[in-house]
Amino acid sequence: MISFNVDKCTGCGVCPKVCPHGVITIKDGKAEPVNIDKCIECGACKLNCEFDAIDVTVGTGCLSAIIKEDILKSKVKGCGCGDGCC
Ligand code: SF4
Ligand code: SF4
Repeated sequence: MISFNVDKCTGCGVCPKVCPHGVITIKDGKAEPVNIDKCIECGACKLNCEFDAIDVTVGTGCLSAIIKEDILKSKVKGCGCGDGCC
């Protein structure tokens, strides 16, 4: 989960640069999420914000994103055992 404090954000543009998944953009001089589903909760944006304008709840986001990505890429239907059980 990521959230921005608009009062603290100066629109410096650092967080969109460090985000590995293109989750953040700058609009009207403030950071805002554009692809929130792609956030892996890595915390890079928070770590690099000099103005303490970002909060990231680091949880299972990274693992969840990897699993989701694997499922979307997978051509295997069901569990993949080959027995046709599901
Ligand atoms: S790094 Fe911080 S101050 Fe800079 S644009 Fe992002 S949220 Fe705003
Ligand atoms: S936590 Fe990581 S993936 Fe999520 S917005 Fe910040 S830099 Fe991007």
